[in-house]
Amino acid sequence: MSHITSTGTKSAILLIYTGGTIGMKEDPAIQALRPFNFSQILEEVPELGKFAYRIDSYTFDPIIDSSDVEPSLWIAITELIEQKYDEYDGFVILHGTDTMAYSASAVSFMIEGLTKPVIFTGSQLPIGIPRTDGKENLISSVEIAAARDSEGHALVPEVCICFDNILMRGNRALKINSDHFRAFRSPNYPPLAEAGINIRYNQQLIRRPDNWNARPIFHKTLDTRVSILKIHPGITPQIVRTILCSNDTRAVIIETYGAGNAPSKDWFLDIVREASESGKIILDVTQCLAGSVNMDIYATGKCLKEAGVVNGYDSTTESALGKLFYLLGEIQENATVKKMLETDLRGEISK
Ligand code: ASP
Repeated sequence: MSHITSTGTKSAILLIYTGGTIGMKEDPAIQALRPFNFSQILEEVPELGKFAYRIDSYTFDPIIDSSDVEPSLWIAITELIEQKYDEYDGFVILHGTDTMAYSASAVSFMIEGLTKPVIFTGSQLPIGIPRTDGKENLISSVEIAAARDSEGHALVPEVCICFDNILMRGNRALKINSDHFRAFRSPNYPPLAEAGINIRYNQQLIRRPDNWNARPIFHKTLDTRVSILKIHPGITPQIVRTILCSNDTRAVIIETYGAGNAPSKDWFLDIVREASESGKIILDVTQCLAGSVNMDIYATGKCLKEAGVVNGYDSTTESALGKLFYLLGEIQENATVKKMLETDLRGEISK
């Protein structure tokens, strides 16, 4: 744990460093980027010391490229926030961009009744590089994590991703660009805030807890027996059967076409029915970047519904994965899991 000297103690923020490009440096030995020490990041952003906040930091060991993220990291992040919850007003998580949307989604389900901001951020260029986007992203995230209203309540008590001046609900965000600074988008839900000269908060879109004084519930049991099946022209019965009927899965997310459609061929529906009857939970999300599944429009969608497939509405795949890990970890009965999948728990779906 390290401290940044600041000019006051208005808000206390914990920076949690997991790795990612923001903290990478070229390693001459392998001529590729590798994560480096967190204290070097802080040296690159002296602006943080100008905030009238107490800013502490915690570094995970090892720090990783987020392509190596595992659900165990989400459990560790949730445990850390649980331990430090009363000490800090907000949490900023520095994370690689590649799997940030998965991590933000999962953590959003793992913390129920959040009353403080948990902001994920990172960058496309390392923080030591002159044109880095990392400084801007980090400074805006810290400011948003510390923002409170006149009653002292957090302005954004949600798990979010803050990137390129846009604050998005974490379980709505997607990485959509590997080149541009605008690497994330939230196609199915408007930004919670936008940073220009001022940070403009879209108050009516931000979720608030039922009880500001209640401590959140931290859920730390995940069941990861979930697979993803992306439908495509030419998909074979062997592939569909291998994924849907595997003994190692309890649930399968099917990424379907458009409004939730899949092939109407008998072999396909027979396998879906067989999997569903044998106790697999099958969730329908769309491959489209924006929009929602509606299984009542087309005959192909209706057949899936009749075969027991659950409607994923406008969920991202990343969010569906985190939600399933969380629900399966908590609930044994499939009927209850299915009901919860179709329920908006953390603002992740619109119905
Ligand atoms: N590979 C990096 C990561 O996800 C990319 C990034 O951070 O932008 O850790």
